[in-house]
Amino acid sequence: MPGFELFGEEERKEVNDVLETGILMRYGFDGPRKGVWKAKELEQAITYVFGTRYAQLTSSGTSALTTAMAALGIGFGDEVIMPTFTFVASFEAVLSVGAIPVLVDIDETLTLNPEAVKAAITPKTKCVMPVHMCGSMADLDALKQICDEHQLILLEDACQSIGGKYKGRSVGTIGDAGTFSFDFVKTITCAEGGVVMTNREDVYTKSDGYTDHGHDHKGVDRGADLHPFIGYNYRISELHAAVGLAQIRKLDTFLSIQKKNNLLLRSYLEKIPEISFRVVPDGGDDSCSFLSWFLPTEEITKAVVAEMKEQGILAGSFYWYVNNWHYLTKWDHLKTAATLHAISPEQKNALLSLQNKNYPASDAIMSRCICTSISLLWTEEQVRDKGEKMAAAIHKVLKQSLQHA
Ligand SMILES: *Cc1c(COP(=O)(O)O)cnc(C)c1O
Repeated sequence: MPGFELFGEEERKEVNDVLETGILMRYGFDGPRKGVWKAKELEQAITYVFGTRYAQLTSSGTSALTTAMAALGIGFGDEVIMPTFTFVASFEAVLSVGAIPVLVDIDETLTLNPEAVKAAITPKTKCVMPVHMCGSMADLDALKQICDEHQLILLEDACQSIGGKYKGRSVGTIGDAGTFSFDFVKTITCAEGGVVMTNREDVYTKSDGYTDHGHDHKGVDRGADLHPFIGYNYRISELHAAVGLAQIRKLDTFLSIQKKNNLLLRSYLEKIPEISFRVVPDGGDDSCSFLSWFLPTEEITKAVVAEMKEQGILAGSFYWYVNNWHYLTKWDHLKTAATLHAISPEQKNALLSLQNKNYPASDAIMSRCICTSISLLWTEEQVRDKGEKMAAAIHKVLKQSLQHA
């Protein structure tokens, strides 16, 4: 998964270009920067590599989501439908614009179940936000159809699925807008950074201003820019963009290594009939940053996790069901509306009401799911060794569970 594993000369060279001029900011200083514009260059590379008309870099994936929501006019009183399985950043962004996160069930794609989305639509629904978790994606055709029918915005949180494709198009470029994160553990890293991608000029222009205090960026003199609306500072720095520029040039290498390692590891688990795999929707092309697999029951899954831990082979494999960052059962701070400042009564009530909600369909999936992250550094021998050891641990647990049954 993470591009940081292949950090080297290329990144150092790009960063050095910026250090040579000393202009660490992405805007202004046209003379002293001597033609070095790393953020602009990275934005151009993103439009080209991922096939989106516009790209606006930001300081993080979270600020990219916040920016996209603001640019799409999502705010106070609006409901955003999102999955129960995601990273906390997804609901943080919804809350940051004053909107209400409406959590709905996932299916075996590990993101939004289209039927659950339909059932959750109310007159206040403004946006559907699938989160393409762990390298693969939602059934985007089904979600797009629902959005078209109900005139809703489709915003893709593709932060974890750089390189994933759906029907030939990059995830994150299919909805009204989409985001990537370039934080330290993502497929491409800038250390910290993110991007809003969109094919809509209005969304781009608003994102551009919003991330820079509302500057309209129309003049040559930054100090004389007009401010047609209120923005914030979600800018990326030239140093961060420089790292990303070196990384995006290596993306194809990252993806081909991921694919090779993923498929080889998968071949070991495929031999076990009790194991099934995450569903990739028709026409989908998994980025292969994770291998996501299911066991028959929660009990067996917990025993496999314990066995892998015992054998020292759990590192890099995640049982998200009991993880505080990724699944709603552990989000007590959300369910108690533990904010540092007052929020609207609508938001507060919606969050507190999560305490009374149950998601048995999501539980039934997440309690049986293990996601193994794929390293770019594994040798073939190491993947084979890992596959054999994982398969042995699983067989041991399955045998025990048969004896107990
Ligand atoms: C990483 C991530 C984000 C946020 O990214 P940051 O750059 O860490 O702010 C948002 N959504 C998902 C699904 C992520 O994995």
